[in-house]
Amino acid sequence: MFQFNNPFKVEGNWYKGNLHTHTTNSDGALSPSEAVCEYEKEGYHFLAITDHWRLTELKGASNILLIRGEEVDCPAKGVSFHLIALDIKEEIPHPTKDDPELDPQELIRRIKSQGGQVILAHPYWSALSTMDMLSIEGYIGVEVFNTGCLFEVDKGYSMTHWDDLLIRGRNVFGFAVDDAHWHHREHQPKDACQAWIMVKAKSLSTEEIMDSIRKGLFYASWGPKIKDLSIEGDRIYVSTSPVKSISFVAPNGRGERFSAVKSRLIEDAEYKIRGEEKYVRVQCIDEAGRMAWTNAIFFS
Ligand SMILES: [Zn+2]
Ligand SMILES: [Zn+2]
Repeated sequence: MFQFNNPFKVEGNWYKGNLHTHTTNSDGALSPSEAVCEYEKEGYHFLAITDHWRLTELKGASNILLIRGEEVDCPAKGVSFHLIALDIKEEIPHPTKDDPELDPQELIRRIKSQGGQVILAHPYWSALSTMDMLSIEGYIGVEVFNTGCLFEVDKGYSMTHWDDLLIRGRNVFGFAVDDAHWHHREHQPKDACQAWIMVKAKSLSTEEIMDSIRKGLFYASWGPKIKDLSIEGDRIYVSTSPVKSISFVAPNGRGERFSAVKSRLIEDAEYKIRGEEKYVRVQCIDEAGRMAWTNAIFFS
């Protein structure tokens, strides 16, 4: 028996979106309408503008779906938790210094009390330990990849943090986001329109996209396409765009990596479930070193 909402096997369309972006309403360099325009041009279907402590709303129409978002943060235990709030109704106000209840769990409560969802942002960049991440609950996922954190300080990947949660039974999802700030630096690539999630949803509305995200009906990428994943008997089959490796990641020494040999790229892989994995998730790496991730398949 396994627990996995398989986006490749449900009805619907694929929609591409980025859930973490800044504008001039916090520390970003582009205005909200300029930022939206850039994502529109790159073929994204939806975008969440997540300014720090600010619910940014676009004046005027846009051709892509805007999900109401905000990034909030809170120090605790010597580190700082950054949280992405999605689909909120009202701005989460910056707490005053004498707010007696200010802690990350209380922030999550305030977001969820509005019907919003929470993603734990860039855990590697935030230096969060496993105990830190386990000390709060109610978030649906972690940023397994963050473009800005990679290009600025080489802390873009949080696979270890994600696995540390999965291995302890926290079935959270993996998101790839840009965290775009749009500041031009000669020695760094552009930090926008680089990473995304592909969501399988019935239609392009906030309700349907958020419903699919809540169910884990998406995969994350900053390059490769994941074309299919099926589970048949004791096998998991995956097909992708041409990549250098496809890995079935599981706890400890379980799982398996399939690599291209003799410079030929691969486009599919098959994994035999041994029955003691607890969970398996799939990730792949293309020729340019970019990655994509499925959510985890949990076995009981
Ligand atoms: Zn942040
Ligand atoms: Zn941010």
